[in-house]
Amino acid sequence: MSKVSTTLALPTGQVAVPTGLFINNEFVPAVGGETFQTVNPSTEEVICAVSSAQVADIDLAVAAARKAFKTTWGKNCPGTERGKLIYKLADLMERDAQVLAELEALDNGKPVKIARCALAHCFCAGKLREGRDFDIGDSVACLRYYAGWADKIHGQTIETNDLQKLAYTKHEPIGVCGQIIPWNYPIQMWAWKVAPALACGCTIVMKPSELTPLTALKLCELIVEAGFPPGVINCTPGLGSVAGHALSYHLDVDKVAFTGSTVTGRKIMEAAARSNLKKVTLELGGKSPNLVFESADLDQAANWCLLGITYNMGQDCTAGSRVYVQDTIYDKFLQLLVKKFDQVKVGNPYDEKTFNGPLVSKGQFEKVLGFIEEGKKAGAKVITGGGREGTKGYFVKPTIFANISPNMRIVKEEIFGPVLSLGVFKTEAEAIALANATTYGLGAGLHSNDAKQCMRVSGALEAGTVWVNQYNLLNNNVPFGGFKQSGIGRELGQYALDNYTSVKAVHFNY
Ligand code: NAD
Repeated sequence: MSKVSTTLALPTGQVAVPTGLFINNEFVPAVGGETFQTVNPSTEEVICAVSSAQVADIDLAVAAARKAFKTTWGKNCPGTERGKLIYKLADLMERDAQVLAELEALDNGKPVKIARCALAHCFCAGKLREGRDFDIGDSVACLRYYAGWADKIHGQTIETNDLQKLAYTKHEPIGVCGQIIPWNYPIQMWAWKVAPALACGCTIVMKPSELTPLTALKLCELIVEAGFPPGVINCTPGLGSVAGHALSYHLDVDKVAFTGSTVTGRKIMEAAARSNLKKVTLELGGKSPNLVFESADLDQAANWCLLGITYNMGQDCTAGSRVYVQDTIYDKFLQLLVKKFDQVKVGNPYDEKTFNGPLVSKGQFEKVLGFIEEGKKAGAKVITGGGREGTKGYFVKPTIFANISPNMRIVKEEIFGPVLSLGVFKTEAEAIALANATTYGLGAGLHSNDAKQCMRVSGALEAGTVWVNQYNLLNNNVPFGGFKQSGIGRELGQYALDNYTSVKAVHFNY
């Protein structure tokens, strides 16, 4: 029988970490003892083996979630009680932030502390901030935001034309939700999915990425400690083609919420359509533009553009991977940007000065280096960076390509690494056309001190989120999601409650 926990050496000390599947509040091995290995991207060494959910395991997890939905959760647990448990989970996550951040650094490569402001002082008012304040601090805030919603999910009373009748609506929990998340923000994506689903009364089978399963499993310990009834949240790490497919194809899953690539999003939608037409929300990829106009504060704009492509090593769905600059300021802006790029410290994620750790995996590392080589061959010019950093681990130098053209793959495709394509425009209309020349529509930024131009351009950009004179900042109470092939539905804010509720209309004759 495979093990269901291991002990890992973190800077904090020896820490016990679960490695089994989490079903009905217990860690169990996968059927047949199947496992996969998770790897430390800084050292390329195997961290440990983790149970790999098979179809039969997904059946067990879904059955546990269904039972909880019908007995202890869903309509059987008042919103205030659900809210209390979610608040408790947030408190526990906050208590354990350091261990979670260190475990994330080990499994994902994300720096524990990020000296963001040395590079982008505009980002957080000149103060050093810890990496965990984004991923984990923000996840705690997300849980609290939705804990507050749990007892405020109301319908409407509607007068009808017949005075003897009225109608009212109820927002009922959808039921059992499959949630499939990627590896770039393993804790934050977990929180974005789990928090609104729990607030609405849904039960969950969560499938974390096979590249970064450890923090999702560590969080399951907190679910037990917080006092959630068995089966409300289950966690089934495993391969996408096995566990992920089984979840999206399952006949007793009412909804699948997915964050990941557009390619996988299509497969999930197809599986949902072919099985039981379960509801689907998709948060997918992007190729987001940043436009820098001649009136912009160039130093600030350069900070945001830097942050846009180097934050999280560029492994960001809203990575600002295309920057277009007005021709009159191009040379000056490029000089500023290169200087800032060259200050990015790439290295050990446990080092407090590190801004960029390694990319998550060998596959991602080779993919990003492949794009860089292809860009060079296609005739784009490397201004800075352009290869790996060091000889061990999946570290890549932050890279700027100039002399780009619209048909190059580095300009069209999501690279998901610290690789920026820098282009030039003459007019506002040209800038908008370049920005919108993509099948994606997740994020877009514009930098200008002309308020009317900001209004015009933000209105014309085809993206679910537009940042004006900033980039990549999100709030838990503001919706987030994609236009075009970047997704279906919205996460965060009140909008996310629609993902996990069904509206029932009751016609009442009295
Ligand atoms: P991915 O699509 O490869 O995998 C995401 C998840 O889907 C993983 O858990 C994986 O195991 C699972 N999966 C893979 N194949 C599956 C299948 N056939 N059926 C069901 N599940 C399957 O994506 P990734 O490489 O982990 O993450 C990077 C992608 O995620 C990028 O494209 C990025 O833009 C996107 N992303 C989007 C957002 C957003 O909010 N829009 C946020 C983060 C990441």
